[in-house]
Amino acid sequence: MDCIFCRIATKKMRVAAVHETERTLVIKDINPQAPVHLLVLSKEHHANLLDCKDTGLLGEMLESVAEAAKKAGIAEKGFRTVINTNDEGGQTVYHLHIHVLAGRPLDNRLG
Ligand code: 5GP
Ligand code: ZN
Repeated sequence: MDCIFCRIATKKMRVAAVHETERTLVIKDINPQAPVHLLVLSKEHHANLLDCKDTGLLGEMLESVAEAAKKAGIAEKGFRTVINTNDEGGQTVYHLHIHVLAGRPLDNRLG
C-alpha cells in the first residue's frame, strides 16, 4: 500500500514538523485553506475515523491539536478543527488526519 501520509508520518519522506508526539506528527498543509493550516497525522495507518477504534490514539491526536495550536500562536485568537470522512465528507487522503485552520475569521457555516 502506498500512502503519502504514512511516508510523511514515518519520516520516509522529510517534512518539517510543527509538533510531534509518540503517536502523532503535525505538519503544514501543502495547499492551505487559511493563513494557518495544519494537519495532525497519526503515525500508524487508519483509513479514517471509521477505521480507528483506538481512543488512546484519538485522544493523543486531540492533545496534539491543542499543543500545535499553542506552538503556532493561534490558540488565543482561535482555530477550527475538522475531520473529513469518506467521499461526501470531503476526504481525499485516506489516512486519518485532523485539519487545524486559523489566521482569518472563519464563519459559522460548516460546509
Ligand atoms: P482531506 O481532503 O483528506 O481531508 O485532506 C487532505 C489534505 O492533505 C488536503 O488539505 C491536502 O492539501 C493535503 N495534502 C495532500 N497531500 C499532501 C502532502 O504531500 N503534503 C502535505 N503537507 N499536505 C498534503
Ligand atoms: Zn497511511
